[in-house]
Amino acid sequence: MTRRRWIAEHWDEATATLVGAQAEHMARVLRAQAGMEADVVAGGRVFHAEVAAVRPTEVRFNLIAEVQADPALPVTLVLAVYKFDRMEWAMEKATELGVAAIAPVIAQRTEKHLAKAAEKRAERWRRIVHEAAQQSRRSDVPLIHEPGPLSAQVRAASGATRIVLAEQERTTTLRHAIEEAAAAAAAEMPTLEIAIGPEGGWAPGEEALFDANGWRATSLGPRILRAETAAIAALAVVASCLE
Ligand code: SAH
Repeated sequence: MTRRRWIAEHWDEATATLVGAQAEHMARVLRAQAGMEADVVAGGRVFHAEVAAVRPTEVRFNLIAEVQADPALPVTLVLAVYKFDRMEWAMEKATELGVAAIAPVIAQRTEKHLAKAAEKRAERWRRIVHEAAQQSRRSDVPLIHEPGPLSAQVRAASGATRIVLAEQERTTTLRHAIEEAAAAAAAEMPTLEIAIGPEGGWAPGEEALFDANGWRATSLGPRILRAETAAIAALAVVASCLE
């Protein structure tokens, strides 16, 4: 039987501790008791562990042995802020598919009230990806950057291969761009940044900004996808090329 996996908030050499909602869930719903076994992620490493002590809001584990962990896909998803319910769904699915980080950005066609509310939403996004990481048995939690303007993200220095998904692009496929990056990185995994526009797509000025800063426009095929579909499809392409 596969053991349940928990991502601990606190840890040291020999123990790890869950607090808050996770601990409450373990204590009350799962009726955790000393001796119960689980996989516990502590500081990005996965351990076979055993419950040592249960309190209503704190569960402590003894770490028994480290187990093999799967690394995240080396991708930062630059996701334009759009309708929160759909965007959050995209974040959950991106986490399941292995994304390393998500940078929410305010694009020109991001609705004004969403742009305003985005900052306060980041904590909720972190909770969503934490839960999704746990559910999909990841050994790490994707990093959610603070939401910020698209232009800052596009201009920021980066060692990654930078790709913008654009439905107008007809010649270069995402697959082709990733295969080139993989060939250039030789034995290493290339690191990638992949930008996805909001519901209304990128504004012409934004496309020019990407271009001027060395981002390559790529296509996911002839059909127009919703942003969340584009995110899932893009990560599936990356996984199939790199894993
Ligand atoms: N301009 C659009 C829709 C934008 S879709 C419209 O006509 O309504 C939202 C985002 O998904 C786009 O900005 C782009 O980043 C991505 N996207 C959707 N379909 C795509 C495709 N076929 N190829 C590449 N990117 C795509």
